[in-house]
Amino acid sequence: MERTLIRDLKQHLNQEVKIQGWVQEFRNVSKIKFIILRDRSGDMQTVAFKGETPEEPFNLANEITRESVVEIIGVPVESKESRWGIEVKVKDLKIISKAQTPLPIDNSDKGLTGIEKRIDNRFLDTRNAKVGSIFKVRSKIVKIITNFFDDQGFTNINSPKMTALGVESGADCFRVDYFGKPMFLAQSPQVYKQMFVIGGFERVYEIGAVFRAEKSHTTRHLTEFTGVDFEMGFINNHHDVMDFIEAMFNDLIAKLPAEAQKELTTLGATLPSMVKIPRISVQAAKDLLKPLGKSYPDEDDLDAEGERMLGELIKEKYNSEFVFITEFPWAIKPFYQTKDEKNPKVTKSFDLLYNGVEICSGSQREHRYEVWAAQATEKGLDPELMKEYGDLFKYGAPLHGGAGFGLDRITHRLLKLDNIREAVLLPRDPERMKP
Ligand code: ATP
Repeated sequence: MERTLIRDLKQHLNQEVKIQGWVQEFRNVSKIKFIILRDRSGDMQTVAFKGETPEEPFNLANEITRESVVEIIGVPVESKESRWGIEVKVKDLKIISKAQTPLPIDNSDKGLTGIEKRIDNRFLDTRNAKVGSIFKVRSKIVKIITNFFDDQGFTNINSPKMTALGVESGADCFRVDYFGKPMFLAQSPQVYKQMFVIGGFERVYEIGAVFRAEKSHTTRHLTEFTGVDFEMGFINNHHDVMDFIEAMFNDLIAKLPAEAQKELTTLGATLPSMVKIPRISVQAAKDLLKPLGKSYPDEDDLDAEGERMLGELIKEKYNSEFVFITEFPWAIKPFYQTKDEKNPKVTKSFDLLYNGVEICSGSQREHRYEVWAAQATEKGLDPELMKEYGDLFKYGAPLHGGAGFGLDRITHRLLKLDNIREAVLLPRDPERMKP
């Protein structure tokens, strides 16, 4: 007999079916036994009656433990008492894999176990409907974003994650011993994205691991995260990149409710409504924050508190949960960003804040070799040591720009989770190296 998924049981009323899954709950009373079974599609009450269910499976139900994997042959029937409106009358029961007791964590909806222990036992934790829903939503976010990139003519690339090409400061890189030679775990696919825009694809994206050797202990930083990075050629300036991001987020927010309706309901999540994202320069943002007692030197970035306060101001002023902050000072941005012709103290750059937290940053990249080399030198870098990067701009490079998101951070913020670790199956931070 073929396996029937729990969500399809209503189509098989009064017919014998085979269901398989994990035991979520069970109740053994002398004459009646209830087992709530869960598979990837949902959960369902099954019931065995003394005298009606054959003796062997009826007695076997006494041996069941929570989270055991079992197979049940039974008949779905209508039931007023069951919260599903139906229940499955057990005809046969097989224990495929018996779970030991006690379970190392409480994975019921009571949520009695703290996050660290839950992550130690993530394979049990993700069997909880709420926890599982987070990762199903995350998976749908990837699907929608991937389709959007594809529809917009982007090519998916996979760039090396071990590299000797450093672009940003080496201080944030993990060093790897590569047969006795030093290599680094990629802290961004920046050079490679640019390489393949210039390599003729014009538009590329990558969804992959990004490593940061930062000893941050916050609820939004990890040492390994999943970057959603893209780069596009033949733009006019960084506003084209922001237009693209705005369209991409509108598409995501429009499509996610239909793609993940059940999971969003399980999580009680409400998505933001979005149309136009306001754009304000860092200087204008600082001017808005000044009367609130936050002031910054010209060449400083906003701190986390300033970003949060700005998020609130923007919500009041523009009724938007998103805001682009633009034109960051050259002094605090990487050398490869294009300077503004009218004001070379700033670059054609932006960050996207969502409810006061940065979720994305991007810019136009310098595509003229001489300017690129001069800017590297100005930042104290030696262009000769970045020859492979510099060569990209010597043989025909279009104006281009791009941005990087953290998939973990988008999921974390969109679902309003307490901690980014809730949005990552197996997070890595300065203390956590396992499982
Ligand atoms: P932040 O200011 O929040 O530390 P950043 O300026 O270092 O971020 P970028 O290098 O611009 O971030 O990376 C692009 C995006 O990647 C960020 O907007 C964020 O969504 C994500 N991101 C960056 N660092 C981390 C991290 N340590 N953990 C999780 N996500 C991150």
